[in-house]
Amino acid sequence: MHSIFARMALLSEGWAENVRLQVDGGRIAAVEHDAHPSVGDVKGGIVIPGLVNAHSHAFQRALVGRTEQRARVTKDNFWTWRSRMYALAQRIDAEALTTIARQVYCEMLCAGYTGVAEFHYLHSESSESGPGETMLQALATAADDSGIRLTYVPVLYERAGFDQLEPNAEQRRFATTLNQFETHYRAAREIAGDRFTVGIGAHSLRAVCAQSLARVAALAQTDGVPMHLHIAEQQREVDQCLDALGARPVRYLMHHFELDEHWCLVHATHMDDEEVAALAACGAVACLCPSTEANLGDGLFPLEKYLEQGGRIAIGSDSHVTINPFEELRWLEYAQRLVSQSRNVASGRHSHIGRSLFELAVAGGALASGRVDDGELRKGACADLVLLDEDSPMLLGHECESLLDALVFSGFTLPINRVMARGEWCVIDGGHVEAEAAKREYARTIARLYPREARA
Ligand SMILES: [Zn+2]
Repeated sequence: MHSIFARMALLSEGWAENVRLQVDGGRIAAVEHDAHPSVGDVKGGIVIPGLVNAHSHAFQRALVGRTEQRARVTKDNFWTWRSRMYALAQRIDAEALTTIARQVYCEMLCAGYTGVAEFHYLHSESSESGPGETMLQALATAADDSGIRLTYVPVLYERAGFDQLEPNAEQRRFATTLNQFETHYRAAREIAGDRFTVGIGAHSLRAVCAQSLARVAALAQTDGVPMHLHIAEQQREVDQCLDALGARPVRYLMHHFELDEHWCLVHATHMDDEEVAALAACGAVACLCPSTEANLGDGLFPLEKYLEQGGRIAIGSDSHVTINPFEELRWLEYAQRLVSQSRNVASGRHSHIGRSLFELAVAGGALASGRVDDGELRKGACADLVLLDEDSPMLLGHECESLLDALVFSGFTLPINRVMARGEWCVIDGGHVEAEAAKREYARTIARLYPREARA
């Protein structure tokens, strides 16, 4: 049992003052308004809900800063980056995945992410001939050690491209047959129990054939779990999809499937106006990863038109070049300002951009992680929350109208004091309680992946 007293808290009904939260069994057991602090309360200035990181490839944390060297001959792009990423993926065993994921999940918690949807396709350990549960167990262990709330999204990956029906050599570890995938998904549900949530992923239209996508989408619908896929990250993908399927990716998907709030479309970057309107109207979540999309030179999501039509969004740190949800939201808005030569572009329920983007990301993240009722702070919801330091210079003088604007649009160190996930304190005094152990193990893994003699 934990109790928290906050001078201000962003509850499901909006900002409230002098709020006392009681937490029991991982859930918010009581919410008292106009309360007074009691003995034993953790006293926090400001409490806000934690955010879900709706798209993560944990192992790619070990690639950050290692692909920023300009090639002499070719022009670098997403596809040249992907070759480097594949080279790393080949060397990730269960031990490496455990330590890298534990480190990155600890970093996420320190930044205010309390949940993560892990879009996972490294299904086989080197000792396994097909998809086993070893790599899944590595992620579950990392989530348990860090305390983050995990949504495991196993990903179906069948082929190298629309006209390449087999995977490439470097994609063999990702590849499964449809039957193997369904067996793995069922095993994951058994292992999960109450420990984590399980969704379903299809890598992309190019990597999964139409019949298989229909099968796994039907399975997701039957089980009521979120259905994730990469959709239109690169212009080359859009062109290939037009050639192979006769339609742009989002249009193709909308035409062949009944999309709803269970769907999470990652990198719906390249859409025409009709696709924007259709995606906004269907209620699916567009998962945006601004720092990764910028790092990889993907293109720009049509945010203004999409939000004006009521579209849903979530955010993800994807390749983990940035692990800061507020920075993701800031750059989501800034990129739009740069191309439109205007200000305050994103629209939502509030005229304040920081608050609108934050609340959209909380709501979309809850859907994408399959925890529809848990995003906001209310009695009965999961206790996933962030305590902000109201004495931080970043927040001084800000009250409820502008507080989230200050948080999103200030580029300083985050003023996060404590973070609670699954009802337990994971971050205290700004640091993760297992940070030292996680860092030590991560350092060992990095030394193994990048031996010193190879560093010249
Ligand atoms: Zn991805």
